[in-house]
Amino acid sequence: RKRQLEMLSTVDSVTRDGVPMRLSANISSIKELDIALKNGAKGVGLFRTEFMYMDRTSFPSEREQFEVYRLVAEKAKGQAVVIRTLDIGGDKELDYFPLPEEENPFLGYRAIRICLEHTDLFKTQLLAILRASAYGAVKIMYPMISSVEEVQQANVILREAMDELDQRGMPYNRDIQVGIMIEIPAAVAIADLLAEECDFFSIGTNDLVQYVLAVDRMNEHIAHMYNPYHPAVLRMLRSTIQAAHAEGIPVSVCGEMAGDERSIPFWLQMGVDHLSMSPQSLLRVKQSILNTDSKQASHQALSWMKLKTSQAIEEGIQHYMNTLT
Ligand code: PEP
Ligand code: MG
Repeated sequence: RKRQLEMLSTVDSVTRDGVPMRLSANISSIKELDIALKNGAKGVGLFRTEFMYMDRTSFPSEREQFEVYRLVAEKAKGQAVVIRTLDIGGDKELDYFPLPEEENPFLGYRAIRICLEHTDLFKTQLLAILRASAYGAVKIMYPMISSVEEVQQANVILREAMDELDQRGMPYNRDIQVGIMIEIPAAVAIADLLAEECDFFSIGTNDLVQYVLAVDRMNEHIAHMYNPYHPAVLRMLRSTIQAAHAEGIPVSVCGEMAGDERSIPFWLQMGVDHLSMSPQSLLRVKQSILNTDSKQASHQALSWMKLKTSQAIEEGIQHYMNTLT
């Protein structure tokens, strides 16, 4: 069965009736990139850069970061590579950068909130990403965005980094695409306004589910309540995608939900532009897409969206999955 899956790595990701669904990878190291490319990933939809900052004693330099980003860009051979700026805080800590003890780290000092205060650290990363953009289809993505101001402030630092590279005479892509993660309910509510400020959205369902349902993603006692198929989550996904498309920008999904084949009918129904997932999920999800009739799946998803409970929705999905071969 594993052999059978491996043969799919070079097969196009399309439904039985020919609707394409691009599958890219979530990576946090070169090793993961290599697995992803072997499994046929179409580029990198999420490069979690915080892992470059972990297991060491000081911040990585611009040069160190640049070397890694360039290598990823080159290995992707012209396919898009979305580099997410630092997302520490929450569950991820750095030994050499002590963060304050917090009652609620997931509602605390995290990601873009840290970067917009420590702009030197942020700019160093942006300089490295920009320099890598001369070597491939590199895009920038800001995590944990909750307001238009945050995007604008981040873009001010980005502009400063560009000016600095101009002064140094170093090449970079002036038209680099800049997108944001949609993973906070506030961002969903103002998705139309945010869409005007950026080039793409990527929905981070791991955090979005936790924040929409007020269910800590690390807390075992309430793990049964952490459900991406809750009607509230599904409505938020739908409205985010609608807002993005009304503004003419693409949307991907890069949370774990994208690697769960039960979610495929929803993506087809909602018109998601592409999915990004862990390298290990790529072939399994592709196989499921190949087995899916897009019209039938969309029709099913539309009917599940009308159900009132997660339980009814999950039963509907399970019933449908059992009918697939
Ligand atoms: C997410 O929140 O869905 C996501 C992809 O980011 P992370 O899991 O790194 O928080
Ligand atoms: Mg997240």
